[in-house]
Amino acid sequence: MSSATKEIKTIGVLTSGGDAPGMNAAIRAVVRRALGKGLKVYGIYRGYDGLMEEDLKELSAQDVSDTIQKGGTVLYTARCAEMRTPEGQKRAAETCRKYGIEGLVVIGGDGSYRGAQVLAHQGINVVGIPGTIDLDISCTEYTIGFDTSVNTAMEAIDKVRDTSTSHERCSIIEVMGRNAGYLALWCGIANGAEDILLPENYDYDEQRIIDNIIDSRRRGKKHHIIINAEGVGHSASMARRIEAATGMETRATILGHMQRGGSPTAKDRVYASIMGCMAVDLLIAGKSERVVGYKNGKFQDFDIDEALAMVKGIDPYQYEIATAMSGGYSKTSGAKALNDETL
Ligand code: ATP
Repeated sequence: MSSATKEIKTIGVLTSGGDAPGMNAAIRAVVRRALGKGLKVYGIYRGYDGLMEEDLKELSAQDVSDTIQKGGTVLYTARCAEMRTPEGQKRAAETCRKYGIEGLVVIGGDGSYRGAQVLAHQGINVVGIPGTIDLDISCTEYTIGFDTSVNTAMEAIDKVRDTSTSHERCSIIEVMGRNAGYLALWCGIANGAEDILLPENYDYDEQRIIDNIIDSRRRGKKHHIIINAEGVGHSASMARRIEAATGMETRATILGHMQRGGSPTAKDRVYASIMGCMAVDLLIAGKSERVVGYKNGKFQDFDIDEALAMVKGIDPYQYEIATAMSGGYSKTSGAKALNDETL
């Protein structure tokens, strides 16, 4: 961990990568904490793009009023390819120096932290805040947006289940999460799914799913809900094959980007507010290359290199619970990411 050589007077804040509900609460906290501590704060628009194009603005407390309840990010977000090049990285650091930005708060996922790491090597103090609905950042048990997203998906799946039961159908519902299965696992438990397909750890076994469906139908079950993770994918083709094999009408529903939107839950607002304040406090304390996280019941900060090196897996006990809750007779089928040849 490196330390600031002089007192920080000006900081910047940006949101990068995929947006997540609660990012606005984090931005608001950064701005108000910084102003309260006598710092000047710039909002940088569209992630690292804003540093390339000098698209930034000094923010007042008023600029972030009426934002805590809003989904998305008022600073907008982007995936900035230029930030991956040495020229782009130099340019980003130059913009920081031009505006006197000595400390930068980066709200995003692992990729965004890699960009922050590069800026730190060029003398800008950086602190990351975990902002992603995927919950796939290893150093933290909480990421901003997951709570809202899982609740949004859960409500949508309840609705699909109603119609699935009425029509005595099988429903495959695909939830987001990129290569991580946390959203799928949580929805699987929260929605009482019969099967949960995760990209982590397990082998795909379609015959077992088919057997489960035939078995549960025999027992008089009126629906069969399969939660499929984005990292497994192929829900539509899976539905066609399952229908052909079981004779049970099978539909695929891909929830998509609706899981990223909406007003953040109380948990996302409160945790994001705490993390935003912590990030500013760390910069004021002269810290750099830190990531704010929540682990073992406490808000903590981690070294950015260590945070990026950690590997996160699905908790086997949670997975076992999901299996046990699916009715006992249904051994939950895990899945590896499938390729087109498998299907
Ligand atoms: P999410 O998982 O929610 O999408 P993320 O932060 O992991 O969030 P990425 O698209 O991986 O999303 O990264 C966001 C941005 O961070 C990239 O568009 C790029 O500007 C920057 N970035 C990613 N990786 C690097 C890297 N290795 N070096 C420099 N910058 C990077």
